[in-house]
Amino acid sequence: MATGTFLNAHIIVGLNKWGAGPDNLKPSTQLAGALETLGIETTIFKTGTPARIHRRSVDFAKLAVQNGDDEIVPMSFETEYNYKGKLQNKVVCHIAYTNERTHEIIRQNLDKSPLYNGMIEGVGPRYCPSIEDKIVRFADKPRHQLFIEPMGMNTDEMYIQGFSSSMPSDVQTQMIRSIEGLENAEVMRPGYAIEYVCVNPMQLKATLEYKRHRGLFSCGQINGTSGYEEAAAQGIIAGINAALYCGALKGDAQNIDGAVADEFILRRDEAYIGVLIDDLITKGTNEPYRMMTARAEFRLLLRQDNADFRLTEKGYNLGLISSERKTKFDEKWAVVKRGVDKMKRTTIAPREINNYLDSVGEMRIENGVRAAELLKRPKVSYHGISEALRRRDDDAADSASDVGNLEEYSNLKAAIEKEIEVLIKYEGYISKQISQVEQFKKLEAKKLPKRIDYSKLLGLRLEARQKLQKVAPETVGQAMRISGVSPADIAVLLAAMKVCPKTASQ
Ligand SMILES: Cc1cc2nc3c(=O)[nH]c(=O)nc-3n(C[C@H](O)[C@H](O)[C@H](O)COP(=O)(O)OP(=O)(O)OC[C@H]3O[C@@H](n4cnc5c(N)ncnc54)[C@H](O)[C@@H]3O)c2cc1C
Repeated sequence: MATGTFLNAHIIVGLNKWGAGPDNLKPSTQLAGALETLGIETTIFKTGTPARIHRRSVDFAKLAVQNGDDEIVPMSFETEYNYKGKLQNKVVCHIAYTNERTHEIIRQNLDKSPLYNGMIEGVGPRYCPSIEDKIVRFADKPRHQLFIEPMGMNTDEMYIQGFSSSMPSDVQTQMIRSIEGLENAEVMRPGYAIEYVCVNPMQLKATLEYKRHRGLFSCGQINGTSGYEEAAAQGIIAGINAALYCGALKGDAQNIDGAVADEFILRRDEAYIGVLIDDLITKGTNEPYRMMTARAEFRLLLRQDNADFRLTEKGYNLGLISSERKTKFDEKWAVVKRGVDKMKRTTIAPREINNYLDSVGEMRIENGVRAAELLKRPKVSYHGISEALRRRDDDAADSASDVGNLEEYSNLKAAIEKEIEVLIKYEGYISKQISQVEQFKKLEAKKLPKRIDYSKLLGLRLEARQKLQKVAPETVGQAMRISGVSPADIAVLLAAMKVCPKTASQ
């Protein structure tokens, strides 16, 4: 099930509310009843979107241009493997601001806001409040920044990022036209709020299968998240596991013990996907959940530059990644490894590097120093060092030749240089985090028996007993992360497993 924001969905604009999915598409009206019959716990969440305006009606001369990043980091590593040119942004956004007049219009019309007159019951995402919410909650702010973004390359619709609203459409038009640069804006579609039904994700296993309903999986917004990436992240895990379940994929996934498993799970130390799913299933969520880096305790290891290193092998073992891509991946990481080794082995003489150190404002060296040591200095880059070494005689040490194998992939070369730099500069922190992960893995590997009757476990506090009974965690690690379960409760649990592993499980 991946019903998004369509399950029993209602759109709300001003005082009007009607059954519809996003963009007035048909909602799903019967499935929610079926879930109830199965005893699946559900709740109502809310989200919203801003109005779309016509490009020709925007006075761009009054708005500041906001260019995209100069250095584009593609979403997919396949882009780096296959794309040989330089990636370029093709469109720009613009910045606009609300003002006192906009805020006044909103304040005068708050009685028509479904958010404030009780029409909206669902909880919305904390990090994307509507503009009326911002005006009420941050009343002292004289203005709010907005981004005017093209909806796509082949459309005239512009999206007013930061201006999500469920005010009546005539009020929205007034609000928009009070903004400098948007005085003549033509509204193509008003903004709206949408309420929908989603499930309590604590009913799910880490595979996103329902604990009480074998073979039923759910993913995406229905599990209480909001956002494209959050949905995609769950989609791939539920998809893989559903395929493993019905035998459409060969289960070659490695679990923690290294044994072949018929389930595919990513741990918190392996991927943001792991953090997201683990948070959902152990803590649940009482508002639409969004993934943020701060939620990951091992975020030094979960870098975008090493996502392929963390996950390609797993995808390959499942048969989801071609051998051609795997070969390119292996080549890339062999080059990275050689580059790191070379930095650690090579000693640089003062005359080879001092001019460079002067140029970046770092202290000169007086004796030979290992390249890796120099690279740990804040202002020194891998590129700077390899340029200095390039001037050495050819055989002695030409670091550039390490990257040379893949020279034709210009995007990849920069990625490799960056990777070598990261691995050396942050080596100390990275190895500290790896040892923390080892501790974490031990608890994750301690599986709890499938059917423990927590109500019979003496020594557990009442709250812990109820929560553990409800969530039925699969590992001791998961049990520890359930809110309301204390370290003392875990000690009781571990002792019970040690003393009487059989009676703990019934
Ligand atoms: C108005 C609005 C604005 C948003 N803006 C953003 C944003 O700016 N950035 C962002 O990251 N996220 C945004 N989101 C959230 C994002 O759209 C969702 O989180 C994401 O699309 C959810 O993906 P999903 O696969 O779970 O569901 P969806 O992408 O919603 O797909 C669900 C699909 O299931 C189909 N379906 C539903 N019920 C049934 C049924 N019973 N039988 C068959 N098919 C069914 C639907 O037709 C639909 O095609 C927004 C959401 C809304 C509603």
